[in-house]
Amino acid sequence: MMAGGRDLTKPWYNQKDPTGKTTTEEVGLRFTCTQCGNCCTGPTGYVKFTDKEAAAMARDLGITVDAFMAKYTHDTEAGQSLTENYTRGFGYDCVFLVRDENGKSGCSVYKSRPAQCRTWPFWEGNLYSKAAWERAAKGCPGMNQGRLYAPEQIRISCRKATESESD
Ligand code: SF4
Repeated sequence: MMAGGRDLTKPWYNQKDPTGKTTTEEVGLRFTCTQCGNCCTGPTGYVKFTDKEAAAMARDLGITVDAFMAKYTHDTEAGQSLTENYTRGFGYDCVFLVRDENGKSGCSVYKSRPAQCRTWPFWEGNLYSKAAWERAAKGCPGMNQGRLYAPEQIRISCRKATESESD
């Protein structure tokens, strides 16, 4: 199947040494989060979630779904989103982003975080081309290092991310 001149059955990362940053025998992409927090802050945006994810986050926080929606979410042009709080020196932090004194970041609803967060960086926009991947990697030090993801795992994550976008 072709799309925009690309053969979707043979994505660019489905080849040996796709980024030139791995060994020549590897197929797929590397990623391990360094907990820098960059992806949970910056310019204002949105973090979408499903009803099921809202229920899971509310359960983890020990509150009702109604209380969760009122306290941690707001309306955006893309639908209901997790709220952001402006933090000087960083930008618009996700309401669940926490930073420790060593500069490491974490997510206070990590276990139940939405698919949009779970699937980063394997989003369609980042996987569109090697150039798009490398552009995203400039802001995410976890990309191109750490755990190797096989093309099939990448494809599944990307599909979940796309589905969460359209929910
Ligand atoms: S930007 Fe990348 S390395 Fe930093 S917290 Fe997000 S996923 Fe992890």
